Amino acid sequence: MLHKVRQQGLTAQVFEAGGGVGGTWYWNRYPGARCDIESMEYSYGFDEELQQEWDWTERYAPQPEILKYADHVADRYDLRRDIKFDTKVTSATFDEATNTWRVQTDAGDDVTAPYLVMATGCLSSANTPDIPGADSFEGPTYHTGTWPHDGVDLSGQRVGIIGTGSSALQAIPIIAEEAAHLTVFQRTATYAVPAWNRPLEPDEVAKVKANYAEFREANRQMPAAFGGWLDHSEDTALSVSAEERRARFEERWEHGGLPFLGAFTDILLDPEANEEAANFVRDRIRRVVTDPKVAERLVPDQVIGCKRLCVDTGYYETFNRPDVELVDLRETPIEAITPAGVRTSAGEHELDALIYATGFDAMTGALLRIDIRGRDGLTLQDAWAAGPRTYLGLGVVGFPNMFTITGPGSPSVLTNMLVSIQQHVEWIADCTTHLRERGIATIEPVPQAQDNWVDYVNMVAGFTLFPTCNSWYLGANVPGKTRVFMPLPGFTTYMEQCNLVAEQGYLGFVLAG
Ligand code: NAP
Repeated sequence: MLHKVRQQGLTAQVFEAGGGVGGTWYWNRYPGARCDIESMEYSYGFDEELQQEWDWTERYAPQPEILKYADHVADRYDLRRDIKFDTKVTSATFDEATNTWRVQTDAGDDVTAPYLVMATGCLSSANTPDIPGADSFEGPTYHTGTWPHDGVDLSGQRVGIIGTGSSALQAIPIIAEEAAHLTVFQRTATYAVPAWNRPLEPDEVAKVKANYAEFREANRQMPAAFGGWLDHSEDTALSVSAEERRARFEERWEHGGLPFLGAFTDILLDPEANEEAANFVRDRIRRVVTDPKVAERLVPDQVIGCKRLCVDTGYYETFNRPDVELVDLRETPIEAITPAGVRTSAGEHELDALIYATGFDAMTGALLRIDIRGRDGLTLQDAWAAGPRTYLGLGVVGFPNMFTITGPGSPSVLTNMLVSIQQHVEWIADCTTHLRERGIATIEPVPQAQDNWVDYVNMVAGFTLFPTCNSWYLGANVPGKTRVFMPLPGFTTYMEQCNLVAEQGYLGFVLAG
């Protein structure tokens, strides 16, 4: 966004809580952190030179390499001179007399600007559950989302990890290697498809680079903005024979990763199709885990893909180790954290270190931590008291000239984030150009357009199986958070809608002043 803004001849001040660029890749440095979208796809496509000069080394890039990429982008476009690091925005207030935003920070900054772009990330507000006795634990505690930058030495220790989502799944096999003993506290069992990570071959990189524009476009034509270059079938799961179905799942399993859910068109739409895919994975888990009791605890019962499908390397195998214990919190819930460890209804697990892999206050958390006030002193907290309400996930009624990159109501976390981020940056840049060229002071959604958009997002989500489980997409992981499905499934349709809105002079927005 900063690069784009400069290209338009505008100036910008960026405030960044972290000590460097990279966002999620700056904070999530836990062992094994790695992207679950393939590296050739998970990169910026706005500059041919950038995409040609950068070389990814692995099929799925590890966190340090993605951070290096973010640093490279920051250096390449000389971005740092307009970024103030280690600085948190505390408030942003719209001044109706001047049509400007006033932004204040914890470092004493006090700036005004006509436009406010919130690029605060969807998974940047770590969620640590409020477990009785949490402060009493005598050993160190860590959260995967705010992992210490100089690493953590867990060798020879008895380690506990709470959570079995994507972060935990990546960390567990590696921590198990290092620790003397690992106790995994699982509330909900997780589906994972192997990553089959490996070094990238020079010829496959060359093939993509020779056709990067087509490769990017193919991804934009996909509902989740990745996997455009795979073979796609239009078949539904039950329209083919049992053998054919198994063969397709097998093929996707051998391919690895998130495209497993694209084996058929209706896995996230039809409960029966979903059950077929789920059973395939359940069977794989049972094959890998040698202790049948442990295997049954690891077998998930919810809809596959309802919570984000995980991409793993050796996760289920880790439970065959004699020094790894799985505690099923559905059988024996946590009662308290004690000075010596974690006490469940079955007794105390003594630990030297405790890791929270308990996720994030997703999509709204980072925005609502800031005191954002729009027209008539309306706070974003009040505007979103019954759940986030946006138009296109880009604008909010009552908050003129405020844009939310990958905001709730846009496809965001259901997609390849870099594609969604780029699409939003380009849309916002075009929008502000439109305003400036016409001397228009403010843009703000029409209340009816926003209401319709919220209804539309709910309707689309309602066609899918996403709302059937307690996922962070629904805010269900944060006690007290309003249960609303926040992202919009379907990138391509969404992109077309955004383009249409712009082509029609920002239909659904009030352009004033
Ligand atoms: P998450 O998916 O929200 O998982 C949090 C885990 O903590 C869940 O297993 C949850 O159980 C458990 N938990 C939460 N509160 C608990 C409590 N009070 N007691 C016991 N267990 C509790 O968080 P995450 O693993 O950090 O991943 C978040 C998202 O970040 C992912 O879905 C993905 O989009 C992204 N991510 C991506 C990658 C990647 O690219 N490879 C890696 C990591 C994260 P319940 O399921 O029962 O709530």
